[in-house]
Amino acid sequence: MSKTIQSIRGMHDVLPDESHHWQAFEEVVRSLMSRYGYREIRMPAVESTDLFSRSIGEVTDIVEKEMYTFDDRNGDMLTLRPEGTAGCVRAGIQHGILHNQVQRLWYMGPMFRHERPQKGRYRQFHQFGVESFGIADPDLDAELIILGARMWKSLQLNDIRLELNTLGSNQARTEYRAVLVDYLTEHRDRLDDDSLRRLDGNPLRILDSKNPAMKQVIEGAPSLMDHLDTASVEHFEQLKLYLDDAGIEYTVNPRLVRGLDYYCKTVFEWVTDQLGAQGTVCAGGRYDGLVEQLGGRPTAAAGFALGIERLLALRQAMNIPIPHDHPDIYLLLQGESSSRKGLLLAEKLRDENPRLKILSNCGGGSFKSQMKKADKSGALIALILGQQEIADDTVTVKFLRERRDQQTISQNGLNEFIKQYQV
Ligand code: ATP
Ligand code: MG
Repeated sequence: MSKTIQSIRGMHDVLPDESHHWQAFEEVVRSLMSRYGYREIRMPAVESTDLFSRSIGEVTDIVEKEMYTFDDRNGDMLTLRPEGTAGCVRAGIQHGILHNQVQRLWYMGPMFRHERPQKGRYRQFHQFGVESFGIADPDLDAELIILGARMWKSLQLNDIRLELNTLGSNQARTEYRAVLVDYLTEHRDRLDDDSLRRLDGNPLRILDSKNPAMKQVIEGAPSLMDHLDTASVEHFEQLKLYLDDAGIEYTVNPRLVRGLDYYCKTVFEWVTDQLGAQGTVCAGGRYDGLVEQLGGRPTAAAGFALGIERLLALRQAMNIPIPHDHPDIYLLLQGESSSRKGLLLAEKLRDENPRLKILSNCGGGSFKSQMKKADKSGALIALILGQQEIADDTVTVKFLRERRDQQTISQNGLNEFIKQYQV
């Protein structure tokens, strides 16, 4: 036998026993999005490499070391998307749906980053993302956070807390950057290699370092809060007011800078303590400059992205019950012509009971083996269509989950009877 081929490290199958967890999540999200007036956009999984280096930033973990980049057959450099915002903005500009318009969009799908695989960190993972264009006021930032809070509630997750910060205007950030670089240069000997590398290209990211040895030097750094422009301060104050009104708790974390370059003003993360080191479930913020940076007209924008694997792991860690995924009814077929009649009977039941889940035995088998399959399927009842039943226009009902004698009923009365077995 030849060696079997395995999936790529950090890229996982979602098997049938797990996929309904995903579907339950997706249903919550779809319904929530339509209730807030957001519409779905679907972008390709592959884009020009330039798109990501121009938007995410050259000196970021993603662009420096995490992208799956390859040479197309005609020599173009392409990249498997590491996130969705860049592609969403690209699509918006390309199709002219951003300028002078308000767009509230969402997307869901696989993203690719060449990171060290570990719990909650994969090379193919999935994001649900929301992007909103054309609204500069902080009520939009508040809406994004409020709908996030409603999402946690719909998913029965009550252990996710909100961290909030503001990065100020691009100009304020540039000024602060100079002050920060002065400070960090003064303490150059205490910086680790990553930070030294970032000192020129992306010094703000140093504040986000997870290296404990850097903690002290970071704590001593000048605070961005002291260098904000008035408009950003007002924006932030207003946002906090809206969140207070909505009863949403938050912590202002002045060290929250986010790993992508394009953010300005509001940034936020939804964090949990239940998932160890990979505790950020959802992250986002405002990125008013990005559309212009990618060649569009200046357009206010804000959004967030949620890691679906982490969210599902959190649901599991908190033992949130998942809706069942088994059939309501298993149809057993015995004897000559029962397959023909059985297929028709199952279709008739499906026609008349759109929500009924009925699993029909295909492929024959003894009564005993079919009963075993019925039991294993998780169905609540088994319907038996055998020679006698076909002759009498009846079916026999066996109750698989309750102590109750089997019962024979007419096929005409079947609809009425099975209604009680639909969940
Ligand atoms: P982290 O700090 O955990 O690396 P990030 O800042 O790189 O996260 P974003 O780019 O903001 O993450 O992506 C938004 C969300 O997507 C994250 O909060 C997380 O839930 C999820 N996510 C990011 N990278 C991965 C990954 N490699 N595997 C699984 N989920 C991920
Ligand atoms: Mg990351």
